[in-house]
Amino acid sequence: MARKVTLIAGDGIGPEVVEAARRCIDATGVRIEWEEAAAGEPAQKKYGELLPQETLDSIRKNGAALKGPITTPIGGGFRSVNVAIRQALDLYVSLRPAKSYPGVKSNYRDIDLVVIRENSEDLYAGIEFEGGRKGTEELIRRIETLSKKKIRPGSGISIKPISEFASKRIARFAFDYAVKTGRKKVTAVHKANIMKFTDGVFLHAAREAAKEYAGKIDFSEAIVDNMCMQLVQKPQAYDVLVLPNLYGDIISDLCAGLIGGLGVAPGANIGENIAVFEAVHGSAPKYQGQNRVNPAAMILSGALMLRYLGEEEAANRLENAVKAVISEGKSVTYDLLPGTADAAAVGTKEMASSIISHL
Ligand code: NAD
Repeated sequence: MARKVTLIAGDGIGPEVVEAARRCIDATGVRIEWEEAAAGEPAQKKYGELLPQETLDSIRKNGAALKGPITTPIGGGFRSVNVAIRQALDLYVSLRPAKSYPGVKSNYRDIDLVVIRENSEDLYAGIEFEGGRKGTEELIRRIETLSKKKIRPGSGISIKPISEFASKRIARFAFDYAVKTGRKKVTAVHKANIMKFTDGVFLHAAREAAKEYAGKIDFSEAIVDNMCMQLVQKPQAYDVLVLPNLYGDIISDLCAGLIGGLGVAPGANIGENIAVFEAVHGSAPKYQGQNRVNPAAMILSGALMLRYLGEEEAANRLENAVKAVISEGKSVTYDLLPGTADAAAVGTKEMASSIISHL
């Protein structure tokens, strides 16, 4: 029987890369019944809202979704639809593998990292107080009284909540993931030397989880600034990284850079029995509708989804087909070639067709 999966095209280049990924997944032979649902600009046009309830209901019901990127205007406008989906469905894990594929332009080789980022709290909780407002000044005075520290008048305040519950949950997920995927080491990344009551809680939870998995998975710790340097110097020394939300966001982009950029960086947002698979890249509006961008990140996100659905063999075949097309370098998009205007580049659809022919 076909398994139902929600399909969200998104906006910008979303519909092109999602269609490429859908074709590739269908071509693996895994039977999926796609339930199309709207979010972002197309949903605004059709339903008058960016994230219709039906879309969330569809993901909840099916337990899995493949999602294209969705534009978030900078400054003003609406808050990110992507963040809203993660919060509404409590997708507390952001999983981003960063793997070197021969043929991709990069200064590094043989990288095989997985970044596991806590997705539900930290400075991303969106609890902010604008500088200069009456309420903010009251808050500042209250904090000064409680902390016996001075805060400059007029300061803006962003709150960084980190709980034991969320820290334990993500730490356990990281170790479980390492066991299930045959990985060897988990490294907890933090700044607990400075932020004892937030990052300190996160680190403590990681240490406790490490004890539960002692003998099965190695554990190490790294302060986030040092981690940045280590990753640039010797990324091959790391395996699974587990991080609070903000550091996870930054380090996962750093890792995408190490493997050659956004065109080949897949991702997943995972909760309890529910997951949304999407590329790390955004909606790249300037390339919208041009059949130019690289579908690999979205297709590799599809491979992550197949693995999540228990279709390991099909997932491996799909990943290997992407790998083969990239390493041959004959049917690849502009970003994988030396010059951005390279005449040898093929389009999004054509690269997907080549991947299908390698399955
Ligand atoms: P972006 O990832 O959309 O694009 C940045 C640049 O990266 C592009 O101009 C392009 O040169 C390159 N690029 C991205 N994807 C590519 C691909 N598949 N193939 C080849 N090249 C590719 O980042 P941005 O410009 O900062 O963001 C654009 C919009 O996307 C913003 O509104 C942002 O908020 C949103 N966004 C959405 C998501 C999401 O839906 N999960 C993630 C990130 C950004």
